[in-house]
Amino acid sequence: MKLLIIAATHGNELLGIKLYQFLLAQHSALLESIDFVIGNPRAYAAHKRYIQSDLNRSYQSNGARYEEQRAREILRYIDTTKPDIILDMHTTTCKQPNCLIVGNLEDTALRRFLRASHIKTVLEVKSLNDIASAVTNVVGYEVPNDHITLELLNHITNDLRRFVRGTRGAVTKDVYHMVDKIYKKDVTTREADGFVNFKMNKKLGFVPIMTGENSYKKQTNYLGFKASAPEKITIDK
Ligand SMILES: [Zn+2]
Repeated sequence: MKLLIIAATHGNELLGIKLYQFLLAQHSALLESIDFVIGNPRAYAAHKRYIQSDLNRSYQSNGARYEEQRAREILRYIDTTKPDIILDMHTTTCKQPNCLIVGNLEDTALRRFLRASHIKTVLEVKSLNDIASAVTNVVGYEVPNDHITLELLNHITNDLRRFVRGTRGAVTKDVYHMVDKIYKKDVTTREADGFVNFKMNKKLGFVPIMTGENSYKKQTNYLGFKASAPEKITIDK
């Protein structure tokens, strides 16, 4: 089994870098199965989320902006190296549980990875022009900055090891299906202040995802995403 770890798709998010450093420091035997790339090298060097456009919204694009070109380069690299699974490592300033982000629950390698991972919360996204819209065997990790500890890196390492060995049986995950964006024009500041990520908002009838203090600062017309109530899905193969 070959894993490709993409670190710093957003240049200021260091989970992937820290994981790789952790594996190197341990001289982990897993490194034989792992290939590692920095998703957005220029943004990583500049400690910024992106340079010209969000790389994670630049897949499926023919544009000439730096991240659009970089997305095509990454896809060509994947096409050449053919990893069994691609891990896209993110961190967030939002308060939320650690979660895995997937695009296509039918993908066999992706299901094998979900079985291997200790993380119970899964978010299924669609059509964001993210990497999962271009390839199916991708799993994203989304982890709040203050959750990154040696213990977590150890747990993720165990995820990778179980994936390579394929030693785990059926697991049940809480799967949240993304249904739409939460547009800034549709909610009041007061409503937004009451959002708790991954918890059903009974008044508005959806589960807010990836909302937080920075949502208003971002130059987008949406605060985060809406999901439906979680579904317990057992993945046995
Ligand atoms: Zn990110």
